[in-house]
Amino acid sequence: MDYAPRILVVEDEHGISGFISAALTANGYDVEKAVNGKEALMLIASHCPDAVVLDLGLPDIDGQKIISSVREWSSVPILVVSARTHERDKISAFDRGADDYITKPFFTGELLARIKTALRHAKARETSQSSAPKPRYRLRLLTVDYEKHRVFFGSDDVHLTQMEYRIVELLSKNAGRVMTYDTIMQQIWGPAATQDHQVLRVNMANIRRKLETNPASPEYIKTEIGVGYWMAEDE
Ligand code: CA
Repeated sequence: MDYAPRILVVEDEHGISGFISAALTANGYDVEKAVNGKEALMLIASHCPDAVVLDLGLPDIDGQKIISSVREWSSVPILVVSARTHERDKISAFDRGADDYITKPFFTGELLARIKTALRHAKARETSQSSAPKPRYRLRLLTVDYEKHRVFFGSDDVHLTQMEYRIVELLSKNAGRVMTYDTIMQQIWGPAATQDHQVLRVNMANIRRKLETNPASPEYIKTEIGVGYWMAEDE
């Protein structure tokens, strides 16, 4: 590897911080550590890490607030690693712009895989910003053609309603990222969006009936229970 990605580990518990750092270093990453929020913000601004592994329960600033303030000026991938398992914490983190949410305890293999994914997404975002937007999403049998506003399953033209198409378009353009129910509602229904997610659930059930071979075990659009939906990454 000619260039080791730099990861900032923000964690106030030395045991956990040491454990994560050791795993990252052993896998070729360049690791920096911060033990509180202030230090984290300073290092993110001054050292520009390639990704941030962020604990939420920090002694000075809550991790959720760190996500919001970093997102005002940086799109660095942020992977939350937290003991907080409540859906409301996950929703808040994703809505503030976290890229991933891993609950403690976790396996290092899982953390490493997710860091790799986050770095790949960041690179893809960079490339797509400097080139024309992708004309389509394609994964296995599914194709979403953004120019024609059509969805194909194999060679079949899938008939989606306008709402259904817009949901699929939104999720596929953000493939690999969890989108919370509220975010999807706001983007699709705009200011008319209600707090009630029932209309989204109904649309999703219809979409899955049309796109998934087995809607009960979806292959393309996955559910993050209590949080939102995410679409599998395209090829
Ligand atoms: Ca902590």
